Amino acid sequence: MINRKEFILQAGTFCAAALAAPAFAFHEEKKMKIKQIRNATLRVTFGGVEFLVDPWLISRSEGFSFGQGPFTAEVVDPAQLGIVMPMCELPMPLSNVLSGVDAYLLTHLHPDHFDMAPDGTAGEKLDKSVPLFVQNECEVGVMKKSGFENVRTFTDDGVTFKGVTLKRTFARHGTKEPCGPASGIFFSSPGEKKTLWILGDTIWCDEVAKTMAELKPDVVVLNACAAQLKTYGRLIMNDADVESVCRAAPNAVVIASHMDTVAHASLTRETLKAALERRNLASRVLIPDDGEEYDFE
Ligand SMILES: [Zn+2]
Repeated sequence: MINRKEFILQAGTFCAAALAAPAFAFHEEKKMKIKQIRNATLRVTFGGVEFLVDPWLISRSEGFSFGQGPFTAEVVDPAQLGIVMPMCELPMPLSNVLSGVDAYLLTHLHPDHFDMAPDGTAGEKLDKSVPLFVQNECEVGVMKKSGFENVRTFTDDGVTFKGVTLKRTFARHGTKEPCGPASGIFFSSPGEKKTLWILGDTIWCDEVAKTMAELKPDVVVLNACAAQLKTYGRLIMNDADVESVCRAAPNAVVIASHMDTVAHASLTRETLKAALERRNLASRVLIPDDGEEYDFE
């Protein structure tokens, strides 16, 4: 039994709590989604914001091959010289890829990540009024020349866009020497339970291992077709690197991207899957088809 004074106190506490909380208050759920488009191109929904990552959007009829360009002597296997890139079409109409995007994110300015024209401009198919984030001031210059009206850099300290913090991470784009500067992007938001790290075009290396230990991402996207060129060596991850990621992040969801689209690859979805089976990692790594989407709680 409670006495009258205790009852009044309890009732008062209840009323104060009821007044403080709106009648239908609930925590707005933000659920991460990742849709594989083609190569490194992804649609990412994060913190309620729609991102288009590495938008390389040309069709095969607009494609190119190593046989035509300045990198002819770089190709490891002559059979790769005549292969037109992209090796497949977008899995959906271009208008669907672009619709509702709040910002474009570019990990690095290479022709298998962003449309590049012979006149030095870039991103022909994109809406120039949509904010674009790039890795450095040099790329900011290219994008401004190309007509983008709102170009920013994502930085090592992190920049915030509509409540989502985008942090630049180090990427080593080659086992011999880096094929130019490259970056990864780490996503976090108070509205998301999980964090996402898109590692970008990088091999597994000490710097990436250190970042993995610091950031402890919940979901990681790796570029894993083991593309190679003579001067730079292997440019992105192979199955051994994917194993290193799985061991370093035993609880993370691991997604292998950048598959079956470029001529200088040495792993396909099929051979990567077989290699991961030999390493007892097939169940640890998702290898999405183009157009496939994952939803996260
Ligand atoms: Zn690439």
